[in-house]
Amino acid sequence: MDYVSHPLHPLFYFQKTFYLVIRERNCSLIIVSLFIVFMPTSDRLTLLQNFGRSIKSAAYIYRPSHTEHVAEIFSLAAEREFKIGLRGSGRSYGDASLNAGGIILDLRRMNRIIEWGPESGVIKVEPGVTIQQIWQYTLEDGWWLPVVPGTMFPTIGGCLAMNIHGKNNYVAGPIGEHVLEFEALLPTDELITCSPQRNADLFYAMIGGAGVLGVFTSITMQMKKIYSGNVWVDAWSAPTLRAMMDDFEPIKGESDYLVGWVDGTHSRGRGQIHRATYLHGDEDHEPTQTLSVEFQTLPDTFLGVMPKSLLWRFMRPFMNDLGTTLVNTAKYYHARLFEHRKRYVQSLVAFNFLLDYVPNWEKSYGSGGLIQYQSFIPREQAHDAFVEMLRLCQKRGLPTYLGVLKRHRPDQFLLTHAVDGYSLAMDFPAKQGNRIDLQKLADDMNEIVLSAGGRFYFAKDSTLNANVVKRYLGEDTMDRFRKLKARCDPDGLLETELYRRLLS
Ligand SMILES: Cc1cc2nc3c(=O)[nH]c(=O)nc-3n(C[C@H](O)[C@H](O)[C@H](O)COP(=O)(O)OP(=O)(O)OC[C@H]3O[C@@H](n4cnc5c(N)ncnc54)[C@H](O)[C@@H]3O)c2cc1C
Repeated sequence: MDYVSHPLHPLFYFQKTFYLVIRERNCSLIIVSLFIVFMPTSDRLTLLQNFGRSIKSAAYIYRPSHTEHVAEIFSLAAEREFKIGLRGSGRSYGDASLNAGGIILDLRRMNRIIEWGPESGVIKVEPGVTIQQIWQYTLEDGWWLPVVPGTMFPTIGGCLAMNIHGKNNYVAGPIGEHVLEFEALLPTDELITCSPQRNADLFYAMIGGAGVLGVFTSITMQMKKIYSGNVWVDAWSAPTLRAMMDDFEPIKGESDYLVGWVDGTHSRGRGQIHRATYLHGDEDHEPTQTLSVEFQTLPDTFLGVMPKSLLWRFMRPFMNDLGTTLVNTAKYYHARLFEHRKRYVQSLVAFNFLLDYVPNWEKSYGSGGLIQYQSFIPREQAHDAFVEMLRLCQKRGLPTYLGVLKRHRPDQFLLTHAVDGYSLAMDFPAKQGNRIDLQKLADDMNEIVLSAGGRFYFAKDSTLNANVVKRYLGEDTMDRFRKLKARCDPDGLLETELYRRLLS
């Protein structure tokens, strides 16, 4: 399809004005829906949402399959004064890949594996390739992604734009540290190559740059050698968050992955720790089997009977304060009684992508969706700050339904979210009735994080404001980012809702 000559509806400019009004005034979803229903429009007009299902946003969607298509859409948008937002799989919890009233470039059709070296473990891919596609391609040759998020559905372009971290951040750093080189198309029409040696300023700014400096068009990455498709998992429970952190510190040197599942309904944050280590060459007697895609595939049914696609509906009645308190308590005592100090093997996929076990679990939060609040706090301050936040949530009657604790280390990327310390991710149900209270809670938690020297993460955020971002990133970093934005995108073509809210 010729992207440029695709006719837009004659009412194009009227629509544009209308959407600008929507964007600026934040009109309700009902008005947007009525407009879409009653207005004959371009078939590109699409209602999108964030992963958390808490923000709806209409945009003109384009699905390029080659770099030349991206360039064509750039000039079309520039000519018609439209802003372009980039989108991978739309798995960011907040508004990072939404662009109300503008164009969204859905990059999932740029999904070819360009080169693979089974000896070197170096892979070159297009940006729309997913984490799932990559591990399925390389696993049988004995290579795994060095860093993965808690789900396998994001695209590698989206992961790079956020510089994602895994449960091994304290040892492996973010995904950007494993990128050897990338190519990107800038809105100035330049196709540039960046690596830690070449165009280094852009390398460290575009990775983690939230997709507003340019479009990654190819990414070359070093994979991690593995000798088995299984990991050793040690599981044990911890009666408090303090105990969890005390347990993390001495073992992080000999653990490949560490994660704490925190009961946020408990005032001192008890929970369960999972620690995983790769198997050595001689520990797996059937590596051909465990390194096969079939072995790694997650089952379709729960307990062998119930289709997993239905599971979220069964979770729905428990997604309230009482239900989650009961479930969290039951999970804690189950772990204490039956899984305490247990060691077992688990497939890499089952360990890393636990959240993919229940397809569409986010729907169990109901029509208002969910908000995730993840903060990163230096080690010395982390415990007290997190406990203060958990208590504040409980005091306000807004307990977190799921808490996840991870250990991190700092990195050199310009808009980095990492610190030498811990992050706590907290999920909250969003409802018509609690939006204002949730925002107030997030604002108050921001102050706790900032006074503890902490940071935030754009992939998860939907509640920060520009002032908070300036305070944690600092004026100098903001200036450097603005200068790079002016250099790469002088006419300000690339914008998302997150960019307008936090970085413009
Ligand atoms: C269940 C779940 C678990 C998660 N666990 C983790 C975790 O453990 N650790 C973690 O770090 N994150 C985690 N995430 C967040 C997720 O990994 C990131 O939000 C990731 O960026 C999503 O990728 P995506 O392809 O969906 O990108 P989108 O969400 O669609 O976009 C993300 C950003 O990338 C930009 N972008 C997309 N494609 C390109 C491109 N080609 N060039 C330039 N910019 C581009 C977009 O503009 C946007 O700013 C999790 C998300 C979910 C839903």
